[in-house]
Amino acid sequence: MTERILEVRDIQCGYDGVPVIHGLSLEIARGELVAIVGANGAGKTTTMRTIAGLMHPYRGEIVFEGEVISRLEAHETIRRGISYVPEGRRLFSKLTIQENLELGAFIRKDRKVIDEGLKRVFELFPKLYDRRRQVAETMSGGEQQMVAIARGLMSDPKLLLLDELSLGLMPSLVEKVMETVVAINRSGVTVLLVEQMVQEALEIAHRGYVIQTGTIVQQGTARDLLDSPEVRKAYMGL
Ligand code: ATP
Repeated sequence: MTERILEVRDIQCGYDGVPVIHGLSLEIARGELVAIVGANGAGKTTTMRTIAGLMHPYRGEIVFEGEVISRLEAHETIRRGISYVPEGRRLFSKLTIQENLELGAFIRKDRKVIDEGLKRVFELFPKLYDRRRQVAETMSGGEQQMVAIARGLMSDPKLLLLDELSLGLMPSLVEKVMETVVAINRSGVTVLLVEQMVQEALEIAHRGYVIQTGTIVQQGTARDLLDSPEVRKAYMGL
């Protein structure tokens, strides 16, 4: 593997002292697009929140660009270059697209830096530029998901964490959103996405991890996982 950007080493984490992630490890090379796939409640969101610094592991550690970050808070991990797009979009519904995007750059107070962020994001999402003055709640689910992803890019992350992008979207929109993720990755951003839509996620990923009740049970290239009889049976109904 080329240079590792992220290493999750044997973490245990959970809620109120009760672990729901039991010794999970994974690693991501700079430039990769990696998927964590698994069923509802398997621990995908908990893993993402822990990497983002919204929760801290009871044991184990998380290393980002060679430094241990598992004790840092979310505002510090975002400064280091980790951006988390949570499940369920969470836009400010009464604000316009541009206002939502500008809030995504909250760690950058400098107007010039915010404008550069907007320029970069609008290049990736030309449709959002045309609709930048539209209020978020008047957009479709797919469009709102694009805004949520774009907002995640405003802090100019090195690692983008995408939580369950497909939630509540029609299949045709899921495909569009996945194409966008590929474009973001090609633009140089390392991506870790978690998905219940296993096939869709593995079709765009380089590598994948299968998570079950808080533990990684299978890992490999996305191609190998797509061909795996266990994965096909458990998650694709094949
Ligand atoms: P989903 O796709 O439904 O979000 P997931 O794979 O992301 O599923 P998590 O949300 O990480 O799974 O949940 C993992 C386990 O942790 C589940 O058993 C869940 O009930 C539990 N859990 C999640 N959030 C909390 C919380 N705030 N307090 C207590 N337990 C929680």
